Amino acid sequence: MRRLNFDAVVIGGGHSGVEASYILAKAGFSVALVTQRKDFIGRMSCNPSVGGVGKGHLVREIDALGGLMAKIADKSGIQFRILNSSKGAAVQGLRCQSDRNRYSQEAIYALCAFKNLEILEGEAVSIESSSSVRGVWLEDGTFIKTKNCIIAAGTFLRGKLFTGMSVKDGGRVGEPPSKQLSLSLEKLRISLSRLKTGTPARLKKDSINYEILEKQEGDRTPEPFSLYSKPFPLLPQTCCYVTYTTEKTKQVVNKFLDKSPLFQGLIKGIGPRYCPSLEDKIVKFPHHERHQVFIEPDGVDSDLVYPNGISTSLPVEAQDEFIRTIPGLEEAKVEVYGYAVEYDFIQPTNLNFDLSLKGIDGLYFAGQVIGTTGYEEAAGLGLYSAYNIIKKLKGKAPFRLQRSESYLGVMVEDLVLKGVLEPYRLFTSRAEYRMLLDRHTAYRRLSKYAEEENLIPEEEKIFREEWENSFRKWVGALKKHKTKGGNCFEAVKRESSLENSLLNDFPIENPFMKNYLFSEIRNEGYRKRFAEEARKIEAALYVKLPKDLDYQKIAGLSREMVERLSAAKPETLLSASRIPGVTPAALSLLRIEIEKRRKK
Ligand SMILES: Cc1cc2nc3c(=O)[nH]c(=O)nc-3n(C[C@H](O)[C@H](O)[C@H](O)COP(=O)(O)OP(=O)(O)OC[C@H]3O[C@@H](n4cnc5c(N)ncnc54)[C@H](O)[C@@H]3O)c2cc1C
Repeated sequence: MRRLNFDAVVIGGGHSGVEASYILAKAGFSVALVTQRKDFIGRMSCNPSVGGVGKGHLVREIDALGGLMAKIADKSGIQFRILNSSKGAAVQGLRCQSDRNRYSQEAIYALCAFKNLEILEGEAVSIESSSSVRGVWLEDGTFIKTKNCIIAAGTFLRGKLFTGMSVKDGGRVGEPPSKQLSLSLEKLRISLSRLKTGTPARLKKDSINYEILEKQEGDRTPEPFSLYSKPFPLLPQTCCYVTYTTEKTKQVVNKFLDKSPLFQGLIKGIGPRYCPSLEDKIVKFPHHERHQVFIEPDGVDSDLVYPNGISTSLPVEAQDEFIRTIPGLEEAKVEVYGYAVEYDFIQPTNLNFDLSLKGIDGLYFAGQVIGTTGYEEAAGLGLYSAYNIIKKLKGKAPFRLQRSESYLGVMVEDLVLKGVLEPYRLFTSRAEYRMLLDRHTAYRRLSKYAEEENLIPEEEKIFREEWENSFRKWVGALKKHKTKGGNCFEAVKRESSLENSLLNDFPIENPFMKNYLFSEIRNEGYRKRFAEEARKIEAALYVKLPKDLDYQKIAGLSREMVERLSAAKPETLLSASRIPGVTPAALSLLRIEIEKRRKK
């Protein structure tokens, strides 16, 4: 039997596991990344893209915290766009189309650069633990001794793949599920539930009639995800296309509903409501005449395209037929058919705020396995759990981000306090303080935490300081330059349409700096007011609730409130406010109770 010993073991080389092992290795700890296939590390299971509204903010935060995703997204990006560019920065979304294979290669290169990180190809089958983790067993009999383990198994735990009425075991197309790990978790009395998600077919690039499709170009001067990406962009830039389903598509889909695993009850797990399959959209919105389909390239040298918007688990004959009812896809050749995957996940309410399991010290969970969906959410959670292991190994207090300082903080708190009823995706609307969380301010908000743990190399620190200095210089120059009715700074604040003409006098070529500067000018007054308001609200909400608080003894609290609060044991009033069903009236009673105790 082979015996190994590491500071931390990460199970799963998906987006969550990549980020977790990268951060742990960067912090200097010895890490084993156990994953089924080394060449599939960082594989994009679904769409070849990174970012979007909400998700794009998260990628910036990962960069500010010393993570990897932004850097490899920039290196593998083949089209960059700011979504919602006509709206305020708070709700804009930076998104890129990625070269699928290149993204994965960049993740592998980045991990292989660490001498203290070992990639072990194989299957983790059980966790050895009592009240704390002792190690991880692999299928080949290897035992890895460790006190810290992150399970980032994605959609693989007892995964089942559905295409029509045919069901196969699998974690993702062409990859086996992870069954034994599920059983091992159940032996530890961890209860697992089911969720599902799905993906569309992949089509041959040269079988599409692009002539009749709407072209969608990227931004002319694209903004990178990472402040530190240079040169950028690296790969040749390309475009996407847009088409729509037709009345005929509806008819074909309706004809095959009796062979849909979703509508015939084969799939029990709940899927993401905001990212439904085509059959789901057609059944739920019969009055919609058409649905948008984006034809997205899969990579620079790839001969495939990804038809975004027609995810399905209908049988292959239905897919062949409905795809050809879509303009431009009349002759489309399917390379891989769409399918749905159903998998085990653990309710995140079973976790502490550091993403470790309540009751087993050192056992952390991150990514899709705790009920999220999306590469960015998975990466953010991987990074967050790794930060907590770093803190633990250094004997420091757990790492916790507040809702008012990051989307990552919003996501972790939503998950741990509320749990999930369907796969959780990050939207800007989930953040009540989103005015304070736009993508430009991520470094100012978060890089201090990375610096505390030496996760930002010296040259990046220097670069960021120079960057902030240069920002201040531009602000100074704009304030000095007189124009009609005041200075240029005030003029742009009043009239954002002046931005372009201003660029003649102030040649700010870097798109990152330009967007940052104009967003700061536009939001200056508003953000200050908002920050002050948030500070006051938070001061009240972050008051710690006494650990010995007996909710039954608080006069006026209903039995339901007592049960909810006693079960969740919130640390603060803010945490109490996030518990589903806890009413504002109950919160007022709690506030009064704390006030009473303080006066005593
Ligand atoms: C079919 C499909 C459709 C999807 N559709 C969407 C979508 O529409 N929108 C969206 O945002 N997201 C979608 N996703 C989800 C997206 O792919 C995931 O959110 C993301 O990949 C999760 O990252 P992760 O790191 O948590 O897990 P994954 O990327 O799933 O990676 C898990 C890794 O763990 C490894 N692993 C698992 N068990 C073991 C074990 N016991 N031992 C060793 N290694 C193990 C696997 O080999 C894999 O490398 C879809 C995923 C799939 C599969």
